Amino acid sequence: MQLIHRISEMREWIKTERYKGNKIGLVPTMGYLHEGHLSLVEKARKQNQAVVMSIFVNPLQFGPQEDYQSYPRDLQKDCDSAEKAGVDVVFNPSVEEMYLRYPPYTTVCIEEITKYLCGKSRPGHFQGVATVVSKLFNIVQPDRAYFGQKDYQQLIVIKTLVEDLNIPVAIEGVPIKREKDGLAVSSRNVYLSGEEREQAVCLYEALMLCQDLYMRGERGREKLIQAMKERILQESKATIDYVEVCDTRTLVPVSKINTPAVAALAVKIGNTRLIDNVILGGDKNAEEDA
Ligand code: AMP
Repeated sequence: MQLIHRISEMREWIKTERYKGNKIGLVPTMGYLHEGHLSLVEKARKQNQAVVMSIFVNPLQFGPQEDYQSYPRDLQKDCDSAEKAGVDVVFNPSVEEMYLRYPPYTTVCIEEITKYLCGKSRPGHFQGVATVVSKLFNIVQPDRAYFGQKDYQQLIVIKTLVEDLNIPVAIEGVPIKREKDGLAVSSRNVYLSGEEREQAVCLYEALMLCQDLYMRGERGREKLIQAMKERILQESKATIDYVEVCDTRTLVPVSKINTPAVAALAVKIGNTRLIDNVILGGDKNAEEDA
């Protein structure tokens, strides 16, 4: 496996792969790899002859009060895991390499679907994400790119980006990887103390409660949200950022569910902000088509 830091070198490598006729899969990450990231690689391996993983903690997607500086990083360990998972190239540019000017003069702004959920509580976040992903698409020019359904709104944002700007990349969603107790695997889980880790399961349990109510016929947003909030607030360290039930495509909150919906939440456990979601109805296709 190769580790590449320079854009020019990345482009050279891509040129050679294209010359060989190989399809290229891109897995964008911020590193500190875990099972979730590796499941994206697994799907990318199956669908492409060459797999590039980018590891870049993108300052543009962090708010001023957020954890950019303290975000966990371990490039050596990440390269070992990436190699074992079958990644061909880890692309790890510096901030200076990625951004000729910082902040950049040109950014990508996505309207409407960023008004809700994380877009509402993290202003500028998706602009940062869409900008860096556009740059990665231009540098790597992959055939397919892989994104986790854990960051459901991000997946919708990226699908909208490629549709609106006619970017010739197929966007592939990958189901959420979870710990044994249901907690979604996340690089940020390392921030949790023992007690916080135990309490963090409330996100998953709240979503399961919601799904259960939905399966038993409940379609009202208020009831579903209330049940989730009650479960979360049983935990002393939990503070709710948002708990929402939205249309799977527009992300507009729905008052009565009669189209495919996603229950999504963001909760702080101590100082660690965690997100999770579930597609209501257990409609695997809605999840995979999202
Ligand atoms: P990150 O490094 O947190 O920016 O994540 C990189 C990619 O991995 C994103 O597309 C995430 O949605 C995806 N990802 C993160 N956690 C999980 C998980 N538990 N299951 C599946 N995909 C995930």
